[in-house]
Amino acid sequence: ADKPLAGQIAIVTGGSSGIGAGVVLAMAAAGAAVVVNYRSGVEGAEAMVGKVHAAGGRAVAIGADVSDEAQVEQLFREAEAAFGPPDILVANAGLQRDAAFAEMTLEQWRTVLDANLTGQFLCARAAVRAFRRRGPRAKVSRALGKIICMSSVHDVIPWAGHVNYASSKGGVSLLMRSLAQEVAPERIRVNAIAPGAIRTPINREAWETPEAEAQLLRLIPYGRVGEPEDIAEAAVWLASDASDYVVGTTLYVDGGMTLYPAFREGG
Ligand code: NAD
Repeated sequence: ADKPLAGQIAIVTGGSSGIGAGVVLAMAAAGAAVVVNYRSGVEGAEAMVGKVHAAGGRAVAIGADVSDEAQVEQLFREAEAAFGPPDILVANAGLQRDAAFAEMTLEQWRTVLDANLTGQFLCARAAVRAFRRRGPRAKVSRALGKIICMSSVHDVIPWAGHVNYASSKGGVSLLMRSLAQEVAPERIRVNAIAPGAIRTPINREAWETPEAEAQLLRLIPYGRVGEPEDIAEAAVWLASDASDYVVGTTLYVDGGMTLYPAFREGG
């Protein structure tokens, strides 16, 4: 129980910053060998690998754009060459291209859907294929494989000015549940984490100044902005046998953001 992911191999997409970086460190500390996927900026990914090595863990950096089919296939081939077939996929890579609806360009729409939804499809498909090819490893995990999709509270909370992003995460929710239903009989567990407001580069302007942070905290009953570690701990649990009976669930890790805190005052 000390190292719940000992002997396992994890691929974390978008692993060089923010939540992905937190997941990389936590999974490595839990005993997994971790593939740090990044799209650009090899330095950030190599820095994560260096941190894992310094802590006595195993990691390797592999570049790939998750929205590109050939690059995803290449990512899984290189990951397997480095550590062997994966046990865990954390489909975390994602981005925003915010715009008021009538001003949103088709390119902004497609960029977000391609990375956040198609990227999860391509990576999850490659993972399912890899789990099947490898077969069971009863000594390291009760499941044949585990997939964790990084969703968002915006898979249920509508978000004006971010229609592309909310659509992508709403899509992730039913991608995750439909896939979970399809592959559960072969003991592949598919689940999602829906983070609330986590302090990362993606939403810097929302917490960067005291005024912005105070505004943000009105949406968070628990009274603090989340940290990547909050999500990383949940990811380790969802990847471990401790959650072996958890199938097709979205775990909201949001300090209560989905409790509609405005109703404390408004009711
Ligand atoms: P981040 O910008 O630090 O991390 C996202 C990472 O994904 C970056 O490293 C980026 O380079 C990578 N990426 C983007 N497109 C890619 C592509 N096509 N191929 C490969 N990598 C790609 O932001 P974050 O907050 O750590 O976001 C991680 C995930 O968490 C995202 O899916 C995001 O939607 C989700 N999320 C974040 C929050 C939050 O408050 N920070 C809340 C809910 C959901």
